[in-house]
Amino acid sequence: MHVHVLASGSSGNCTLVTAGQGNQKVRVVLDCGIPQRTGRLLAERCGESLTQIDAVLMTHHHADHSKNVVPVAARARVPLYAHDESFGSKSYLSKKERERRKIDHRSIQDQVPFSVGPLSITPIQLPHDAGFTFGFLFETENARAGYFTDLGTADVLRPHLHSLNLLVLEANHDFTMLRDGPYPRILQDRVSGPEGHLSNQQTADLLQEAAGPSLHTLVLAHLSKENNTPEKALQTIRPVLNQNVCVHIAPPLGPLSLEATAYLNKL
Ligand SMILES: [Zn+2]
Ligand SMILES: [Zn+2]
Repeated sequence: MHVHVLASGSSGNCTLVTAGQGNQKVRVVLDCGIPQRTGRLLAERCGESLTQIDAVLMTHHHADHSKNVVPVAARARVPLYAHDESFGSKSYLSKKERERRKIDHRSIQDQVPFSVGPLSITPIQLPHDAGFTFGFLFETENARAGYFTDLGTADVLRPHLHSLNLLVLEANHDFTMLRDGPYPRILQDRVSGPEGHLSNQQTADLLQEAAGPSLHTLVLAHLSKENNTPEKALQTIRPVLNQNVCVHIAPPLGPLSLEATAYLNKL
């Protein structure tokens, strides 16, 4: 299994997860909040495609994740997995638009797994101010990965991290930078609230308690441009991890390509 983070952060999120080989290979697009053309170019840069895919998954309806999920699914003529309530009045996600584009919508539920080829996918509901919001666990015979951004508190993830090999996890803000930064108070409270985003410290606390020995790759994602720096995120989070864990910062525009396969199975 490979995870290609194409874009991450409030200006747009898009990730490609691939599994299997040859004719059996599947490609799943997770969110598309960037322009389609940008997504296609970034996918090509890692030897992949945003059009020859097998499914599109949507975490939640915020535009930085959902803006182009309908067009991407329509162009590739593949199912779009999203919660029923994610389709609201906004034009790019309206039911009407979905019907006009003849989207094959598959409804997802918290902790109800489904499969795309050899890839087993489990949605995990996250506390975030966007109605139903999900992160995902991805599993194949020899790899387990998780993708979790846009959550205000981390408790819900504790039971799910232990056996992961690769984890993409939000490290949105440094609390002091947020408090002393340019955001108005009401927005500061939203971002740091129980349905906002994880701070570096919350992410570090979660990893210290819940990361397991099989974790070999960590991607810190959805970093705020205004309220965080890669250095601050690493300073806070790196010390709580086992030294063998490779830590990456997801760039606002990637791609960042990583392998999720368990090390033991590669021997
Ligand atoms: Zn977001
Ligand atoms: Zn969001």
